[in-house]
Amino acid sequence: METNYDVIVAGAGIAGALAATAAAQRGAKTLLIDRNYFETAGKKTNWGWVCGDAVAKAHLDFLHSELGIDFDSPELDTKVDGVYAISPDMKNKFLFEGEGYTLDRPKLAKKIVNMAKKAGAEYLEGHEVEGPILDGNKITGIFGKDEKKQEYKKYCKILIDCLGTASTLRRKLPVNDYISREVSVDDLESTGRYIMKFDSKYDDLNYYDPKNALIHLNQVLAPGGYGWVFPKSNHRINVGIGVEKHSLDRRNAKLGKSDSLHKLIDEYVEWNPVIANRQVDDTDSNGKGYWSVSVRRQQDSLVYMNYMGAGDSMSMANPISAGGIGPAMVSGVLAGEIAGEAIRENKISMEHLWKYNTKYNEVYGSKTAALEIFRVYLQSLNNDLINYGMEHFLTPKEAEELSYGRMPEISMAGKFQKLLSGIANINAFKNLLYTTQKMKLLIDLYKKYPKEMKDFAPWHNKVVAEMKDFKEKFPANPI
Ligand SMILES: Cc1cc2nc3c(=O)[nH]c(=O)nc-3n(C[C@H](O)[C@H](O)[C@H](O)COP(=O)(O)OP(=O)(O)OC[C@H]3O[C@@H](n4cnc5c(N)ncnc54)[C@H](O)[C@@H]3O)c2cc1C
Repeated sequence: METNYDVIVAGAGIAGALAATAAAQRGAKTLLIDRNYFETAGKKTNWGWVCGDAVAKAHLDFLHSELGIDFDSPELDTKVDGVYAISPDMKNKFLFEGEGYTLDRPKLAKKIVNMAKKAGAEYLEGHEVEGPILDGNKITGIFGKDEKKQEYKKYCKILIDCLGTASTLRRKLPVNDYISREVSVDDLESTGRYIMKFDSKYDDLNYYDPKNALIHLNQVLAPGGYGWVFPKSNHRINVGIGVEKHSLDRRNAKLGKSDSLHKLIDEYVEWNPVIANRQVDDTDSNGKGYWSVSVRRQQDSLVYMNYMGAGDSMSMANPISAGGIGPAMVSGVLAGEIAGEAIRENKISMEHLWKYNTKYNEVYGSKTAALEIFRVYLQSLNNDLINYGMEHFLTPKEAEELSYGRMPEISMAGKFQKLLSGIANINAFKNLLYTTQKMKLLIDLYKKYPKEMKDFAPWHNKVVAEMKDFKEKFPANPI
């Protein structure tokens, strides 16, 4: 069979451009293919580069240490000291994530695609990817339509899927025990965001903070998700919400409403008293957009036969914050490095590529199953319980530890004394303790992520059973 490339990277977003850079730097003959032309590199949909565009500095430091890449203005738009999660009653806020930046996404995307080209990858634009070419269960390439809508086929030794949430490659893999082809609707957030110019009516750092990213937890405004206001340069903000479908349905049923995501975003913007004289900033036709992001743990394996996946195609966004830029950076680099080395050593079997799974877990992935558990717990709380919990259950330090997937010791006795009244609060607190125990269990399971492919099945069965059990106990209950 004709082999055109050592490595094909499908999708030139963050994960893809970095995977192609790392593979090409290792001497692999690499193709980076995307439906976008260079001018709109990394654009997710017709609606633009739909994203909150906030990323922690730690992820940019990772890129510096692995690939020697440095970012600066204009792709780094605004520096932020951290991210505040604010309670529905606006009385408590917890700082997490640490220093970071909001990005000028179109500029960042072009920069990293240029980097891939400089490293030696070929960038093929205007090509739609429709599915994998299979030889039995082995993935040998991709097919799709070129810019003239003509069918094309490209062959490779290793395929890296970086097509994002709705990947046409992952969804057309052979049925297998390693990678789920579909993402459950319960694990998706429907999101939308506007980039807006505005005047500050007055200062209230709970609504707009030029030095911090703000997250508003509120099950009425953003059921099963949250709203955000992230600062950008020149009196602009990135403002949006994410909602979970069943939470939205339940909230609407209980309130007798039929609000859509679009309506809720407009209401959220309207709700904010500080951002006055708002105007959509449609630079790069990127002013308003809607898309989905997954909030589950990453796929339990990121490798299947000659296929590897990175970024949103593998559901890598953080289950609590939905931050997927950092994991896309980490996984893109690791996938490209490991694919490049596999080509160099001529060891491209699934057993050899398995080290991508263990490496990704070591660097980022081992906490995400625990965070998925915490996300499900949060979605089971109404606004009153979130208010009460942020006031009485958790200290800001404990909340920060939880958000990193590090388990704080939450003392039952000490906290029970603080529970002033109400059986609902006591139950929610007991549930929090149960949740943290489950999180610990998942963290321990992920510490034992199988080093070899042959040990995957029993480990995987345990993870799936734990998740199922927890999700059945904690249905979404926003109102
Ligand atoms: C509204 C919203 C807000 C978010 N906010 C944040 C945030 O503030 N911080 C954060 O860290 N994360 C955030 N995320 C998540 C983040 O945007 C993603 O995790 C990140 O973009 C993933 O990068 P990726 O390279 O994996 O995929 P993508 O950015 O989706 O890139 C996929 C690429 O593949 C191309 N492609 C897709 N399908 C095809 C096809 N069939 N043929 C050819 N090309 C194709 C696309 O055009 C694109 O170039 C947000 C997501 C949304 C939706």
